[in-house]
Amino acid sequence: MQSVTVLGSTGSVGVSTLDVLARHPERYSVYALTANRSLDVLFNQVETFSPRYAVLADASLVAEFASRLELAGLNTTVLSGEEGLCTVAREADVTMAAIVGAAGLLPTMAAVEAGKKVLLANKEALVMAGPLFMDAVVRHGATLLPIDSEHNAIFQCLPMQSQSDSQVIPFSKGVQRILLTGSGGPFRTTPLADLVNVTPDQACAHPNWSMGRKISVDSATMMNKGLELIEACWLFHTDASNIDIIVHPQSVIHSMVEYIDGSILAQLGNPDMRTPIAHALAWPERIVSGVGSLDIIAQGRLDFEAPDELRFPCLRLARDAAVRGGTAPAVLNAANEIAVEAFLDGRLDFASIALVIEQVMAQVEIVEPQSLVDVQHADNESRVCAIEIIAKKTLA
Ligand code: NDP
Repeated sequence: MQSVTVLGSTGSVGVSTLDVLARHPERYSVYALTANRSLDVLFNQVETFSPRYAVLADASLVAEFASRLELAGLNTTVLSGEEGLCTVAREADVTMAAIVGAAGLLPTMAAVEAGKKVLLANKEALVMAGPLFMDAVVRHGATLLPIDSEHNAIFQCLPMQSQSDSQVIPFSKGVQRILLTGSGGPFRTTPLADLVNVTPDQACAHPNWSMGRKISVDSATMMNKGLELIEACWLFHTDASNIDIIVHPQSVIHSMVEYIDGSILAQLGNPDMRTPIAHALAWPERIVSGVGSLDIIAQGRLDFEAPDELRFPCLRLARDAAVRGGTAPAVLNAANEIAVEAFLDGRLDFASIALVIEQVMAQVEIVEPQSLVDVQHADNESRVCAIEIIAKKTLA
């Protein structure tokens, strides 16, 4: 029996994780659930799973939530803030890191530094702090398993030795290239001139995946693929030149690995996050996820195309950040989070998201981070810069 903390349990990945956990009560017990502000969802989850702890990142809601639990006769202890998140991330056998954005960095690092099994959905943490994060995984003997469906697919297609020992570099074991697939999002064929007018709801209507709003916008700009490129560099010990991004509109192949003998291995399945979640939870075993069989005959065809960097400038910006290294990915990520938030609030048009990020990347100094303090400094500085650019609307 393994205890599991689900950071971000009220979100899309969090809910899918609980769905898988509920199918295997003999293997997993829920240790802690966490949310930012979604009290009703968290309450229902606490009622169902009776965790030892529930954590609210927003400390102002703790008293209200604790009295609701008490009234209902539930004896889950309520913790709050970043310290509460880090405590429950450290204490369980397994931590699912599914908080969205930079807010997930410290709790995810807490689980890594405690040497736990860490299921990484929160790609922003690895993008921001790549070298420090991977160094901590090795130093503390943590087991890091990718949840992003693409990285989970790549992991499944890697040589066995690289799967079981994170220090065995896949590119020394016959791997020659990683093919990172992405659907191209809802605006793959929208006329370029119309992109300036698209609404948040249109951007969040992903053709294949049901996800939280921030990652949905990232998928529409393809910044999500850019962040995944950086994530893949760190997870699989390679640089961006060994990773090709391929647009695959059906999202049936979740990514591929090419070997030096010409073989390409792909992982296929229905687009449902419960597959990578179940894979990582049980790895190296397999468990039922609740996902149905892929009907490959009904599917009929699989299409592939090269990404269009004119339509998706965020891809170029992310590749630049990967090549520059240092705090460049943290700057990219912070500027993106602020620009996406402004777009979702109706303060910025869709086409300007990339312009904001480009300007922030040109203005903020890039350094080699020596610690998480340097990463957080770059993150803060980039947020302030992005907020100023959006407020002044000084976009080219
Ligand atoms: P959601 O927006 O659906 O959920 C985010 C979760 O994080 C919620 O539980 C939310 O709480 C919590 N949260 C938000 N802000 C904070 C904060 N400041 N402090 C603490 N907790 C916070 O996101 P997703 O589930 O879609 O994505 C989560 C992560 O997984 C992201 O990094 C994303 O890139 C990655 N991912 C997601 C996939 C998907 O299919 N959705 C696929 C692959 C990766 P509350 O509900 O209270 O706001």
